[in-house]
Amino acid sequence: MTELTDNGKIEQTLVLIKPDGLVKSLTGNIIDKLSESELVIVGAKIVAVDKELAEDHYKELKDQKFFDDLIQYIMGAYHTRRVLALVYEGENAIKRVRHITGDTNPESANPTSLRGKYGRITTSGVFENVVHASSDPVDAKREIQLWFKPSELSKAIFETEEKEITKVETVWK
Ligand code: UDP
Ligand code: MG
Repeated sequence: MTELTDNGKIEQTLVLIKPDGLVKSLTGNIIDKLSESELVIVGAKIVAVDKELAEDHYKELKDQKFFDDLIQYIMGAYHTRRVLALVYEGENAIKRVRHITGDTNPESANPTSLRGKYGRITTSGVFENVVHASSDPVDAKREIQLWFKPSELSKAIFETEEKEITKVETVWK
């Protein structure tokens, strides 16, 4: 555990409870386990993931053979079209959350980690590992900015600017 508290840097990280995590009613378990990190939630929302968001989120993996299946998975084709997106903030947030989340492959993940406990590998080879967590500060910033607008977070964690945007939006009738 000492390595987890080595530099004391305040970071933010994106956590997604993936469609399998939601369908398996694991939201409470996952948030409960993450609360052991003593990090603070500064953003939370349910998202119906479209193809553009899915492909952008996983753009670094587009040459992998599992990419198409991964896009289907995160869009909810196998479970439900919902993802719970969360932003956690605090000391060494990225490493702390990755530690609780566990290895990418649920079969090699520590059995007490979220992925070790609740993940599985499908017959087509996709790692359904119930939760996403940013892997480094560059990814974390990119991912948080992809999933959240500044106004959707409880505080300004990155630099913002004022911009006039004209667009058609669905509003309450
Ligand atoms: N994934 C998969 N098979 C693999 C590697 C990754 O199905 O061999 C899926 C898995 O759901 C993983 C996601 O692709 O969480 C993103 O992969 P990455 O290598 O970024 O792992 P992570 O950062 O999520 O641990
Ligand atoms: Mg990753």
